[in-house]
Order: sequence, then structure tokens, then C-alpha cells
Amino acid sequence: MRERTMFILGVRVDNVTSQTAMALLKVFASHHNGSNPRKVFFVNVHSIQSARRDHELMSCVNSADLVLPDGSGLKIAGKIFGTPIIENLNGTDFSPKVLRYAESRGLTVYLLGARPRVIEGCLDHLRKSYSRLQIVGYHHGYLSAEEHEAVIEDINSKRPDILLVAFGTPTQEKWIAHNARNLNVGVCLAVGGLFDFLSGAIVRAPIWMRRSGMEWLFRFFQDPAGKWNRVFVEIPVFLGRVAARRFIPRPLQQFIYRTLIFR
Ligand code: UDP
Repeated sequence: MRERTMFILGVRVDNVTSQTAMALLKVFASHHNGSNPRKVFFVNVHSIQSARRDHELMSCVNSADLVLPDGSGLKIAGKIFGTPIIENLNGTDFSPKVLRYAESRGLTVYLLGARPRVIEGCLDHLRKSYSRLQIVGYHHGYLSAEEHEAVIEDINSKRPDILLVAFGTPTQEKWIAHNARNLNVGVCLAVGGLFDFLSGAIVRAPIWMRRSGMEWLFRFFQDPAGKWNRVFVEIPVFLGRVAARRFIPRPLQQFIYRTLIFR
């Protein structure tokens, strides 16, 4: 399968192998020049649907340096478009590889996001599992305006090679895009619920469910109220739109969308 950048419903996706993604990440992290960090995002059905409604998010995602495909919804979309997604490169599986690389090369890491207890739990886990990893700073993700400025100063004083930002979509992507110019960082990754998983605050689906592309179902049963809309509205609407884009002529699509107010 050929590696390429594609657009799914207007949102950029870099359809690459994990080896290529890691090779790029290594270049980004090791070319820390004091300004303009590289930006790495992960897009799934929720972020694509959010970006369709929120043009600011769309432009933040599309102007990143690397946008990796996350989840079964994108796999199905790739099949429908006839350009299969090579690998599911979600942040929860990809970031530990980045941390392992950072540990082996002595690169420094700063963690930003999640609830205070969660980020502390995440640190405990990282100190045990990645004992040589240089974590130069961390902060929870519920920031007042004053804390926000102080956190940026703290990050810049520590000059991390890698900054992991876990505020959830769209806050994390917008935060990275808007603050990148003022950050003395090598590469920023938007990692969603990563710290919740690493701390054990949220349990991940069993391996067989992840391998069979059913992790979304596990997450739905963990938090039905929070994930209801994603599963029963966003996924069907997303797949409907992808199928329409593929099989229905453009003018007819526009007529259907306007008539049904199908967002
Ligand atoms: N979060 C945060 N600050 C906020 C809102 C959320 O740090 O103002 C954290 C939240 O505690 C959780 C993560 O962002 O750790 C969101 O995870 P989720 O899996 O919901 O991410 P998404 O799937 O929306 O990208």
C-alpha cells in the first residue's frame, strides 16, 4: 500500500506506516531549535465530525506537521474511498513508543493535561515503567488564565524536546496551534485520554477488542452518557457522508445535505 496524505471529508490524514510516523517523530523531536515546534495530531471520527462544524479546528488540524489516523471509523472510510488506511495509529498506542524512544535517547518530556490526580498517577506509572525517562515538568489541564501563562513560562524554562498535551478535542489541537509560536519545544503531540489510560483511571479494552477494531464499543460501555452521541450520531453520520461522497454525484449530495440539514 502506498503512503500518502489524503483528505477525509476535508480533514487531512497522513496514511503512513508506524515506522514512517516514528521516523518523522524522531526528526521532529531531535530538531529542537527553540521556536515553532512541530505539531502531531491524531484524528478519529469524533475529531473529523468536530472539524466539519468548527472551521478553526479544521485549519488547526490541516496545518499540523503530521496527522495520524485513529480508529475503525477511518479504516472503513479508507475502504469506501478505495485508499485503505495502512495502520491504526492512535495516540494511546503510538505515544508509549515515543516515550520509549525519548527514554533511550535522553530526550526530555513535559506532560500537560488531565485532572490533578490523574496526572500524578500517570507520573507514577511512567517513573516505574520508563525509569530513565527524563520528565522535566508536568501540569494538570484545568488551568485558570493566570495558571495558563505560568504553565507556558514553566514549559519554556524547561525546554522539553517533547510536549504531550491532553485536553481532549478540540481544546488540545487549538491550544497547540495557537501557542506553538511561543513555545520552546521540539514537538507537541495532542494525546486526548492518554494520561487517563496510563494512570489506570480508565481501563483500556482487552487486546482482542483492540485488535478487532471494537475498542469504541468498550469505551461506550465505560461511559454511555458521555459517548452516546459519538457512537449513535457521529459514527453513522460520518459513514453516511463518506458513502455519499463516494457514490453520489456532487450536486445531488449538496441538495441532500441542504434538504436534510445533515451535519
Ligand atoms: N481535560 C483537561 N482539561 C480540560 C478538559 C479536559 O485536561 O479543560 C482532559 C480530561 O481530564 C481528559 C482529557 O482531557 O484527561 C480528555 O480525554 P478524552 O478521552 O475525552 O479526549 P478526546 O477523545 O475528546 O480527544
